[in-house]
Amino acid sequence: MTDPSDSPDRAARREQLRVGLQQVHDRIERASAAAGRDPDEAGLVVVTKYFPASDVELLHGLGVRDIGENKDQEAAAKVSDLAPGTRAELRVHFIGQIQSKKCGSIARYADVVQSLDRPKLVGALDRGAATAGRQVEVLIQISLDGAAGRGGVPIEGAQALADAVGEAGHLRLRGVMAVAPLGGDPDEAFGRLGEVARGIRADHPEATWVSAGMSGDLEAAVRHGATHLRVGTAILGTRPSLG
Ligand SMILES: *Cc1c(COP(=O)(O)O)cnc(C)c1O
Repeated sequence: MTDPSDSPDRAARREQLRVGLQQVHDRIERASAAAGRDPDEAGLVVVTKYFPASDVELLHGLGVRDIGENKDQEAAAKVSDLAPGTRAELRVHFIGQIQSKKCGSIARYADVVQSLDRPKLVGALDRGAATAGRQVEVLIQISLDGAAGRGGVPIEGAQALADAVGEAGHLRLRGVMAVAPLGGDPDEAFGRLGEVARGIRADHPEATWVSAGMSGDLEAAVRHGATHLRVGTAILGTRPSLG
């Protein structure tokens, strides 16, 4: 795809992103075939954190419809910089750790919040969504090793949190999310996540999403039934350092 208004830099960046997307789609297809799954069942959320709105515009032009962001301030600014037509066709996923005072802001632009991990956030996000006049889709983030620090509710607390989201008027429970524990076996971790997901689905049939897998472990996530893969580096390249 060429655009006569392109600068050489922009054309080169589009080509990088196109190749990255193609490689990731190929990986998803191979992993799905090996697992006997339809590749369309494992959707791609392209994690654009630390990268500019211009990259989101290019990704949208390449067919991307789901993006992930992990910092409220950055995400709010980036989403408001998008062309209205781009914004309208994108689903914005918030995947970072949440402070309750940020819920009002997050509810204004996030279509999906994947990282809800404590009871206090349910009321705050529900109120934010009500004020914004929106419905927000929610995944419960699960801590698969129970370690604090990277976010997530311990497995024992997941069901109660799901029930609370299910009762909130402006939130829609869609499933679970997790990050594989550092240094652990992702197959074991995502297998456990699949069990948690099935437990929650027994009471909440609409909670069918399982968000798992990143650039390094998306194959394991596909093997264990992920419906959403959150991939940044393998598409956009190494994130700019924060200095
Ligand atoms: C940054 C991030 C990703 C993407 O990680 P990559 O290794 O760059 O693919 C996925 N999930 C979460 C929660 C993240 O913060």
